[in-house]
Amino acid sequence: MTKEEIKQTFNMRDILAKCGLPEPNRAGFIKCPFHKGDHDASLKIYDKDFHCFGCGANGDIFSFIQKFYGISFKDAFLMLGGEYEKKMSFKTSLSIYHANKEREMRDKNEVKLKEEHKLNNDLISLYRRFLSKSKPLSEAWCDCYNALQLELYHAEILEDRK
Ligand SMILES: [Zn+2]
Repeated sequence: MTKEEIKQTFNMRDILAKCGLPEPNRAGFIKCPFHKGDHDASLKIYDKDFHCFGCGANGDIFSFIQKFYGISFKDAFLMLGGEYEKKMSFKTSLSIYHANKEREMRDKNEVKLKEEHKLNNDLISLYRRFLSKSKPLSEAWCDCYNALQLELYHAEILEDRK
């Protein structure tokens, strides 16, 4: 059960029974177990809370158990059937691991592709600069160069610069 579920399951009367204390009197009071000599019964029991008009002790069902037994909230919580969320199953953590790995690989590939694109474009521009400074190419070379550029463009390696 979660904390809220426990709160919905038990009221203060259930808690008193668990602590082996008598039921509240007609006015809803019990003798306070948190201070000595409470002959007048000054601890008022509400549905989900309590308040002592003698010593000022107050709180909810958890704090009553904590105070009464002198234990931590965690222990009181467990005592009332509380459960902390179960640890992630091996299968779940494995699939999370795989998803992360996959994303990592995807990112790496993208970076690699971008670098390749850049390298190719750098080569092409170097080549263009070289061409512009050398003597005109033969018809055959021009055809080759144009064909190469077209291929690269179709392979999306060469960016369209027009
Ligand atoms: Zn008291």
